[in-house]
Amino acid sequence: ATPAATMVGTTLGAQNGVLFKGGDVLERAKDVDTVVFDKTGTLTKGEMELTDVVVFNADGQPRTDGGDTIANGGQLTSREHLTEADVLRFAASAESGSEHPLAQAIVEGAEERDIEVMEPDSFENVPGHGIQATLGGSKILVGNRKLLHDNDVAPDPAEDTMQRLENEGKTAMLVAYEGELIGVVADADTVKESARDAVSALQRRGIDVMMITGDNERTARAVAKQVGIDSQNVRAGVLPEDKSDAVETIQDEGRKAMMVGDGVNDAPALAVAYVGTAIGSGTDVAIEAADVTLMRNDPLDVVKAIRISDATLAKIK
Ligand code: ADP
Ligand code: MG
Repeated sequence: ATPAATMVGTTLGAQNGVLFKGGDVLERAKDVDTVVFDKTGTLTKGEMELTDVVVFNADGQPRTDGGDTIANGGQLTSREHLTEADVLRFAASAESGSEHPLAQAIVEGAEERDIEVMEPDSFENVPGHGIQATLGGSKILVGNRKLLHDNDVAPDPAEDTMQRLENEGKTAMLVAYEGELIGVVADADTVKESARDAVSALQRRGIDVMMITGDNERTARAVAKQVGIDSQNVRAGVLPEDKSDAVETIQDEGRKAMMVGDGVNDAPALAVAYVGTAIGSGTDVAIEAADVTLMRNDPLDVVKAIRISDATLAKIK
């Protein structure tokens, strides 16, 4: 492109909240044939909310009745009287040191329900899987199936409950106490208003739209369905460090991929993509790794970025 065309494009972009890092990015964007969206915070608002707490009895059955609150000081004294409040207190206390949006929603959900959140003796993030904490000398796990497996706790009794919640698009997390499954908590996120329109506008341009997430397959597919992404185009259960590999695999097929993401997790994937796009309230790390920054938190601006590139460069041909 001529310097003049580049200037027109970048200016037009800036006026629309689409920041191109230089003329070659502006030029590449029009050739994108695949857009890969991160799920959380990109297609969804990333504002998690606690929606469900399920108690599991010692026989491994989910319970629906109330029961008394008997757990004190982080100590579980009797399995029979375990309540939803207890499960939530253990989960929230274990998560209280974590900055993960899933964790924050659990802590806020507990506080809203006037449940006392205690500070754990220690805790450890297990990236892509959950958290492991010690509370009053007892070991608590909150996370996915893999986290429990790796700690020799069978997640199977909760499978029906997990699947029911995941089919609703929620992220369901298992809670274990001292090596026993005691419950499930679930957080839900909301899809951004314009996500569906953005996906269909891209598809109308002949662009293949994909989604990549660390979340499980079932939840991922439920969200993909809400925004109009084909379930075959969903890459779920991708660990933070594997997101860039996943983008490379897609590009190894000869595709020119635009990766759109907001998180620290997404930075390496943004860097390897043909065009890396950071969206909205994205972290500085993501913005730094990206070629394009969308100032507004609006997935429709992905379409705008491609259209601006297309229009500016078409003019000068
Ligand atoms: P995302 O790509 O959606 O940001 P992550 O890679 O951070 O997801 O996490 C993947 C999965 O690991 C989550 O869906 C959840 O099941 C589990 N997980 C991660 N962090 C936590 C946490 N702090 N508490 C409970 N579960 C977690
Ligand atoms: Mg994200």
